[in-house]
Amino acid sequence: MTGVSVPPKKSRYHCDICGERIGAMSEREHKMTAHPEVMAVQRANRRLYLIRYFPVMSVAIVFAGVSVLLHQWWARFGLLAGIYAMFGILLLFGVRAWRREKPVRLGVDARCLVCSARMAGRDLEQHISTAHPDVASASKRSGWLMTPALLCLLVYMLGLMGLWVLDLLPGIGPPIFVLLIFGPAYGWAAIVAVVGVVLGRRYLKQA
Ligand SMILES: [Zn+2]
Ligand SMILES: [Zn+2]
Repeated sequence: MTGVSVPPKKSRYHCDICGERIGAMSEREHKMTAHPEVMAVQRANRRLYLIRYFPVMSVAIVFAGVSVLLHQWWARFGLLAGIYAMFGILLLFGVRAWRREKPVRLGVDARCLVCSARMAGRDLEQHISTAHPDVASASKRSGWLMTPALLCLLVYMLGLMGLWVLDLLPGIGPPIFVLLIFGPAYGWAAIVAVVGVVLGRRYLKQA
């Protein structure tokens, strides 16, 4: 980001829970005082991760490591199974954690990022589609960039990893492999950042 000068009149940073403008530095403090219920769910999720998901993931990692040490024909399959299990558990945890957190977030008193009206989080989507149809259609157009694109990236990375571990990608050394694995993810992150800035410029000016 070069040459983009934004007059710092008010903080451009929004709380991702209520949409309130806050200083990026005071995010934690704001959340602790304004959203104790969301923080409590996040704490409970972290605890759940530590006592249930992390141990199972550790077993998968150890399994993958031990498989490699065995130098048997199934070493590659064992490694791959361990890696896939790890990602699967992580994904499962992410889905369960979000299922617990989402309803709490929907109950929070939130601020519309476009017009600053206050309402319950669960009414926000409806409000944006009726009061700001241009914003709603813009975010619908860029919606594929989030969950669908992320899932595609994950499938791509796991598939590529599988091919590499099973030695089905002849002639591809570690540097190229790393580039192939992480290149698209960086590209995606860059696109999301640019689209976010463009949409913000275009629609959140009056806020
Ligand atoms: Zn907030
Ligand atoms: Zn609004």
